[in-house]
Amino acid sequence: MPEDSGATRHDWTRDEATQIYRQPFTDLLLQAQTVHRANFEPNRVQVSRLLSVKTGGCPEDCGYCSQSARNGATLSASKLMEVERVLTEARRARDAGATRYCMGAAWREPKDRDLPALVAMIQGVRALGMETCMTLGMLSDHQVHELKQAGLDYYNHNIDTSEGFYPQVVSTRSFADRLQTLARVREAGIKVCSGGILGLGEAAGDRVDMLLALANLPVHPESVPINMLIPMPGTPLEAAAPIDPLDFVRTTALARILMPQSYVRLSAGRTAMSDEMQALCFMAGANSIFMGDTLLTAANPAEDRDRQLFDRLGIRPEDLPEAAE
Ligand code: SF4
Repeated sequence: MPEDSGATRHDWTRDEATQIYRQPFTDLLLQAQTVHRANFEPNRVQVSRLLSVKTGGCPEDCGYCSQSARNGATLSASKLMEVERVLTEARRARDAGATRYCMGAAWREPKDRDLPALVAMIQGVRALGMETCMTLGMLSDHQVHELKQAGLDYYNHNIDTSEGFYPQVVSTRSFADRLQTLARVREAGIKVCSGGILGLGEAAGDRVDMLLALANLPVHPESVPINMLIPMPGTPLEAAAPIDPLDFVRTTALARILMPQSYVRLSAGRTAMSDEMQALCFMAGANSIFMGDTLLTAANPAEDRDRQLFDRLGIRPEDLPEAAE
C-alpha cells in the first residue's frame, strides 16, 4: 500500500501527527482525500439521526453541556421516553433516509431498572432495518452484556479532548474512566463511536493528542464524531472563543489520516459552519453527518438545507445496510 493510502496503524507518534497537522493546508487536504479514496467510496456520506431519549438533570459537570444539573443552564430534566414514541421517531428518521439511529440519555450511567426499556428500543429500531447506537454514560459489565445481547451495534462515548486538557472541562469522571468504558464496550463486541469537541479553549496540540489517544487504541473507533462547540448560555464555556474554521478542517483531516477506515462524523456545530467549511470537511475526509433539526438540545441545519448542500456538492447519502428490510 503506498505510504499515504492509509494503512491502519496504532503506533502513531506525536511528532508524526503534529507534522501532518501542521503541513501546508492544501497538502494536508490532498493527503486526507487520498487516504479517504483508498478506503471509502468518494462522495458518499452516511447519515445518522440522534434522539434524546432522556434530557437534562445529568449529575456530571461537563463544562460545555446544558444538560448538566451542575451548570447554570436551566434545562429541565425529563424521564426516559416511552419506547413506542422512540420507535415512531425512528420510523420517521428511516423514511427520511437515516441508516443509523442514535439514542442519547443524559446520565452518569444507566440504572438497571431502565435496561428493559433500552433493550426494547434497540430491538425495535433494529427491526426497522437501521443500525442502532446509544450513548448512556458509563456502563457496568453486565449492562454492556445486556445491550449487546439486545443487538446494539454502536456505543458512543466521547473522550472530549486531550488527556492533558480534560480536567479543565470535566471533573466528575476522569479521562481514564472514559477509556475504561470504551474498552468494556469493545470487549463486548459492540462497535465504538468516540470523538471529541473542538473550541473548548484547547490548543492545537490538544487536538492532536485527542486524536492520537483514539488512533493508538488497539482497534480504531469505527466512528469518530468531531464536534464544534456550540456555546450554551449558562454553561462554563458560554463565552468560549470560536475555533478557526481552518483548524477545524485540519483536525478533521488528521482524523481521516490517522484512522483511515473509520467514519469521521461532522457532528454538533454544523449550524455555525458555512457551506464552504462543510465542503472542506468533506474534502478532508468527513463522511458522516447527523441530519435532523435538533441534536440532543442544540440546533442542527434543517434537512432541506442539508439535501441542497449534498446536491450542490454531488454527494449521495449511503444506503441502508444490505440486511435492512
Ligand atoms: S455531556 Fe453527557 S455526561 Fe456530560 S453533562 Fe452532558 S449529558 Fe451529562
